[in-house]
Amino acid sequence: MNIASIRMVDLHGQYQRLKADIDAAIQQCLDQTDFINGAYVRQFQRDLATYLQAEQVITCGNGTDALQLAFMALDLQPGDEVIVPAFNYVATAEVLTLLGLTPVWADVDPDTFTLTAGTAEKALSNRTKAIVPVHLFGQCAEMEPLLHLANAHNLYVIEDIAQAIGSRYTGARYNHQMAGTLGHVGCLSFFPSKNLGCYGDGGALCTNHPELADRLQMIANHGQRVKYRHELVGVNSRLDTLQAAVLTVKLRHLEEFNQHRQLAASRYDEILGAIPGIRIPGRAGYSTHVFHQYTIRVADHKRDGLQAYLHEHNIPSMVYYPMAMHQQPAYARRQYPDGSFPVAEMLSRQVLSLPMHTELTQREQDYIGSVIADYMARQQ
Ligand SMILES: *Cc1c(COP(=O)(O)O)cnc(C)c1O
Repeated sequence: MNIASIRMVDLHGQYQRLKADIDAAIQQCLDQTDFINGAYVRQFQRDLATYLQAEQVITCGNGTDALQLAFMALDLQPGDEVIVPAFNYVATAEVLTLLGLTPVWADVDPDTFTLTAGTAEKALSNRTKAIVPVHLFGQCAEMEPLLHLANAHNLYVIEDIAQAIGSRYTGARYNHQMAGTLGHVGCLSFFPSKNLGCYGDGGALCTNHPELADRLQMIANHGQRVKYRHELVGVNSRLDTLQAAVLTVKLRHLEEFNQHRQLAASRYDEILGAIPGIRIPGRAGYSTHVFHQYTIRVADHKRDGLQAYLHEHNIPSMVYYPMAMHQQPAYARRQYPDGSFPVAEMLSRQVLSLPMHTELTQREQDYIGSVIADYMARQQ
């Protein structure tokens, strides 16, 4: 086996499989030269709305913009507080801070890496206006208790589904409802390595609230409904027609992409499940998992050693994320003593994401498993 070829994400292999259709769609954009708000943008918005079973989809420039547009459209005021997970990608904290809003951290669940109603409740104050469940690594946060909490305190719920497109909520009252459609608005990213990725930057929002959709549409387009009449302060955030063309083709394969990831995840579960010191990712009973990342936990400070050992054996791995939000210099509004968000801090020391993509093979995974088992055995 050519072990030098194991990749964290294999965009090249996937492109080779879809090349004919993707090339044709791109060529059509070039022939029509409608690069901004072209036909593919409208088609992709319709196709994605159908897929997500959402009333409206509004495309935009990237996933970070999607979050920014959501907060702008909800008309939050400077000083308003928004509850976000302490273990997260930086985008949410960044746009909140830029808008003069205050991110307030809440700890996460150690098995699912997501916000819980219990941790969110501790972060509540009388200035709290919204809550952002981030469906990290491809699995929904437990939404029923979170929605209940939001309802009780009149909070907006913004779902970050950048890593969880296609995940279904299976909790009692939600009959396999798509992630992103349970709260007021869902934010998506089409960064190339995401489960549905384009060939550059891209993002979108989905909502079932027509008024909110209307505001999002306007804000993404300089706050105008009618050209040169600016009703709201807006931004310029658009999905390129070329990217919409790629996404229109790839959306037709998303279910199959996610199934391949799920298959690869079960193989990892089997290969790694019995290795002492390795904890495989928890599967929640209330959500399907689309495995944007397959993230193990490595006990007893062996994570960095294991990562180096994998690297020596030509196996890529990544630490998402090596620092909790309250420890980030730009976002630590005050000194947080160690243990302020114990789970987030522990995860930042223990998590390791393994190669996960639509082209991953059993042979590659067996090899990865044998190298991990070998390292852990040597540490006993
Ligand atoms: C990727 C990602 C984003 C941001 O998406 P961009 O398109 O890179 O701006 C936001 N939140 C989460 C959880 C992400 O994984």
